[in-house]
Amino acid sequence: MKVQQMSITSRGPGETRSLGERLGEILQPGDVILLSGELGAGKTTFCKGVAAGLGVAAEVTSPTFTLIAEYEGRVPLVHMDLYRLWEESGTQAAKQALADLGWEDYLESDAAVLIEWAGPAADGLEDALEVELVAAPLPRVDERELRCRARGPRSQALLDEWVKRWLF
Ligand code: ADP
Ligand code: MG
Repeated sequence: MKVQQMSITSRGPGETRSLGERLGEILQPGDVILLSGELGAGKTTFCKGVAAGLGVAAEVTSPTFTLIAEYEGRVPLVHMDLYRLWEESGTQAAKQALADLGWEDYLESDAAVLIEWAGPAADGLEDALEVELVAAPLPRVDERELRCRARGPRSQALLDEWVKRWLF
């Protein structure tokens, strides 16, 4: 049976990074991860882990201004951070800006795609793995909950394998 939803507890930044690494190790071309969570939730920490798991040697920073960054790895990694897009423009203008960036081409490329703050752009994505990072209530300052949800068969298989690799 394939896991469709799963909540994973991370007890510190190192664990969030390791969780990302385990996922990065099994990503395949065409896989899409949708990452969300408040500022300071651990999105960048998680992304760095994913990149490490994919064997990316370059340092990964959030593409706040360029929106999209590409890295070479076992599978190429495309990292998007669309926060600024939704923050600064209306939904229609933002969607147009994404089209201008050729965002569909990235999704159809042979890369694994990690999107922070995908927002309305994710509405049309049928098969993607959603990961929401949520801070635990005080005083558990170093604890985060990773709320994972698979949208389709590939992301279900991915979530299944990821969780197994994490637990065993
Ligand atoms: P975001 O990209 O979501 O804004 P960052 O990854 O840049 O978040 O920062 C997360 C911050 O929270 C870091 O300072 C990190 O040390 C801290 N932190 C504490 N506990 C955790 C945890 N379990 N997972 C991830 N980060 C954590
Ligand atoms: Mg960040």
